[in-house]
Amino acid sequence: MTLFPLRSHTPVENTLADTVFDRILRHEIPAKIVYEDDDVLAFRDISPQAKTHVLVIPKKRAANLTELQSWDSRDVGIFFQKVALVAEKIGVSEHGYRTVLNTGREGGQTVDYIHAHILGGEPLSGHFS
Ligand code: 5GP
Repeated sequence: MTLFPLRSHTPVENTLADTVFDRILRHEIPAKIVYEDDDVLAFRDISPQAKTHVLVIPKKRAANLTELQSWDSRDVGIFFQKVALVAEKIGVSEHGYRTVLNTGREGGQTVDYIHAHILGGEPLSGHFS
């Protein structure tokens, strides 16, 4: 028996808690939106940690990376491809950028709606904290 199968489809309960990002997605509260399509919404972080700091959220809801285990692999792939596309659209791809996915309290996640941080627009220090 494999303890950690490569293609795990373990169902993980979606918390369905309404977060500030659910409300931004529904355009109920304002955000500086930089890109939107059928799959993702990207907007500037309210408290930027780099010259350019954008958050990318999938329109299909998940609380965090743990819940992405129950997604179809194609949808997971689309999300990460769209993160790269947004990085191009906001002009950080050429010189490089950092992507961060915080998961859970000890991982520093404060909003329970999965989001990829894109940080760039300037040289970043070589550590994560
Ligand atoms: P986390 O700590 O969960 O990885 O990241 C959450 C991010 O969301 C933080 O960087 C925080 O500044 C940002 N954030 C929290 N509330 C809002 C909001 O209402 N609008 C925007 N644009 N960003 C927010």
